[in-house]
Amino acid sequence: MRKTNFTNPAQMLQMTTSYEEAKIVVFGAPFDGTTSNKAGTKFAANAMRLESVGLETYSPLLDLDLDNARICDAGDVELSYGSAELVMNELESAVTAILNDEKIPFMIGGEHLVSYPAVKAVHQTFPDVHIIHLDAHTDLREEFGGSKLSHATVLKRIFDLLGKDRIFQFGIRSGTREEFDFARIHGNTYLEPLRISTVGQILNQLAGKKVYVTIDLDVLDPSIMSGTGTPEAGGITYRELEEFFLLLRDADIQLVGADIVELSPSHDPSGVSTATACKVLREMALILDNKN
Ligand code: MN
Ligand code: MN
Repeated sequence: MRKTNFTNPAQMLQMTTSYEEAKIVVFGAPFDGTTSNKAGTKFAANAMRLESVGLETYSPLLDLDLDNARICDAGDVELSYGSAELVMNELESAVTAILNDEKIPFMIGGEHLVSYPAVKAVHQTFPDVHIIHLDAHTDLREEFGGSKLSHATVLKRIFDLLGKDRIFQFGIRSGTREEFDFARIHGNTYLEPLRISTVGQILNQLAGKKVYVTIDLDVLDPSIMSGTGTPEAGGITYRELEEFFLLLRDADIQLVGADIVELSPSHDPSGVSTATACKVLREMALILDNKN
């Protein structure tokens, strides 16, 4: 008679719910093919799975517990090598399948470009979706390094899909003058530079609307998030992000999907960045579960 209890450390945050029973589906998108500076984000999801063992399932901030949540970790989407176009199609299909099963996708990048196919799929199901975007970077370039598909163009691709008044950007402190002008002077997106102090006001404005949240972890200051390919000084504190979580939990919006992108574990040998990313994931997963 076997008495051994087997555990699987390669599972995010003890998310033991089966796919069938889950409402929120966490999955990895291990792609960093267009990363402009330092690559490594394709290792983020697995690094987080191992690191997440050290995190409690209960969130004192939100007063919510993963134990009572309907969240599964579905693993990573199998992706092709060498073609961003192919990867875009594979990720779009994966997210479409989750949505067709009436579940909520919660993706772990990967570089930020992976948000494009995810939003594309969400937009098919919810044409009126709005985007909350936390990032150090505008990501509004028309093209980068000769390519329209890049983590530096991802919000522009999403803009091409959704149009004006749908994208709300916070914490932005890096980009070309043209990108800032595109957002602020021409009013194509809402953009709060440097801070995220107006996010509560915007969430109020979005009452009753469907919202997808994309968090580029480099929105956090490099002092807590050095494990990213393009760190940018002057970022928000974790405390400010906590304020955002509380506002999001209490907002009268419909959360239809989310992602966390741009963690590059090997660029922070201390492991603090990966641990922080796990905590961001836990809070966002709990909020998604609570609101769905
Ligand atoms: Mn980004
Ligand atoms: Mn960024």
